[in-house]
Amino acid sequence: MILTVKKDANPTQLDGLMEWLKAQNVEVHISEGTYNCVLGLVGDTSHIDMDLISGLNIVENVQRVSEPFKNVNRKFHPADTIIDVCGHKIGGGNFQIIAGPCSVESEEQICTIAKDVKKNGANLLRGGAFKPRTSPYAFQGMRNEGLKLLLEAKKETGMPIVTEIMDLSHIDLFADVDIIQVGARNMQNFELLKELGHSKKPILLKRGLANTLQELLMSAEYIIAGGNENIILCERGIRTFETATRNTLDISAIPVLKEKSHLPVIVDPSHSGGIARLVRPLALAATAAGADGLIIEVHNDPAHALCDGPQSLTPDEFAEVVKSVNAVREVI
Ligand code: PEP
Ligand code: MN
Repeated sequence: MILTVKKDANPTQLDGLMEWLKAQNVEVHISEGTYNCVLGLVGDTSHIDMDLISGLNIVENVQRVSEPFKNVNRKFHPADTIIDVCGHKIGGGNFQIIAGPCSVESEEQICTIAKDVKKNGANLLRGGAFKPRTSPYAFQGMRNEGLKLLLEAKKETGMPIVTEIMDLSHIDLFADVDIIQVGARNMQNFELLKELGHSKKPILLKRGLANTLQELLMSAEYIIAGGNENIILCERGIRTFETATRNTLDISAIPVLKEKSHLPVIVDPSHSGGIARLVRPLALAATAAGADGLIIEVHNDPAHALCDGPQSLTPDEFAEVVKSVNAVREVI
């Protein structure tokens, strides 16, 4: 971190700042120039509040030279992290497709879809039991019952299950879930992230609707700081001024996240586009851009789905998408 101190800084205030900085366990190197005094902070500055320093009267400018995230940073962990979910690896060249309905609706629905997506190339099953809905009057998910049905589908197909946690108080209910999803709306639920940091389970961390990539990485840092290194990042589209799609898929998130972090990055083309016919092109673009996997919504009867029918693929459409994704993977 580099601090530029104003030319006319009061020496007592400058001494006070120096003492405070040294108490933060960083080395301070001073360079006196004709017009300014520059302080170079060396050491772990991740805990130093930049805004607090820049608010001081004697400080002209503060800049970070290293990112505030450490454990998820590729600089300190150059090799790709590979996450093993019941033998299915994600990251480091291992690509996985997670598929299933937006929400679990019945035993027949989840088991039928699970068998269909497995047959067509998905190794992991998704399905929401606790659903974050904009309207309190919309279907809220089958909750505990939904989790039981997912476990039933896992028993029938052998597919590991991925499902979203919405509240800290539900954590015990997720004991048999293979990947716990933190949805876009909870990306900055820091108490939840801290608790998941104490778990050993893989966490699928989705990017918030209006969050920067640095904020996503800082949320991952919360989980890893607690001791859980099993994190999969997910780009799922962000809110922009564009209204033709539900969200705007940020393709650049894939190379940027992979450059900055060693964690695997997957893409959700379903929530990005919000329209079934857009899933294929977005999935292909994500694959070509280097994603480590995809999470795709599939429903056996999209027209009657209780949640996100318009963006859900039929099993046949899903099979076509998988074929094209595999063709892109061969090329790249
Ligand atoms: C979901 O995966 O069903 C979901 C609600 O996703 P997101 O949090 O990305 O909106
Ligand atoms: Mn959905």
